[in-house]
Amino acid sequence: MQPGYNSISSVDEKMMARTLAYANAALDKGSVGIAALLSRRDEILDLEHNQFQETRDAIDHAEMVVLRRMARYLSQLSEEEKRELTLYSSLEPCLMCMAAISFAGLKRVVFSAYNADGTDEVTVARGLTSEQVNQALTRGPLTLLGGVQREEGREILARMGKLRASVPAD
Ligand SMILES: [Zn+2]
Repeated sequence: MQPGYNSISSVDEKMMARTLAYANAALDKGSVGIAALLSRRDEILDLEHNQFQETRDAIDHAEMVVLRRMARYLSQLSEEEKRELTLYSSLEPCLMCMAAISFAGLKRVVFSAYNADGTDEVTVARGLTSEQVNQALTRGPLTLLGGVQREEGREILARMGKLRASVPAD
């Protein structure tokens, strides 16, 4: 296990800044402002945004697009090598993406805004946190590190008109 596996490193901060900038750029172009980045140690393997505006495919979440595109690469990695991977998302992954991430054998997820920061439209499993989903419903459990550069993530939700007016207490 790498140092900092369960905490946020300067590489994580850099990767998240890239992810959030990409989400903002997607939004500028009229796409959905949610982005995901896959890294191996400090190398970026893939970076993409939610493709719904382009494909009208409701399951084209940013994480799903990245996982599909990297599928062949991921299938060739050992379990140990997969521990060098981190998936970054500008928004807490939904149920579908959490399951897909765990099926792909990834172990570590870092995200910015929480689902609870968003409106009901953003919330996928009402009343469940990703921690609860992680424990009960995935092959994981995944190491989940949320709220990284959360204000920037919340600003993107606000730009999409999907920021909840008040933040519920945890
Ligand atoms: Zn998703």
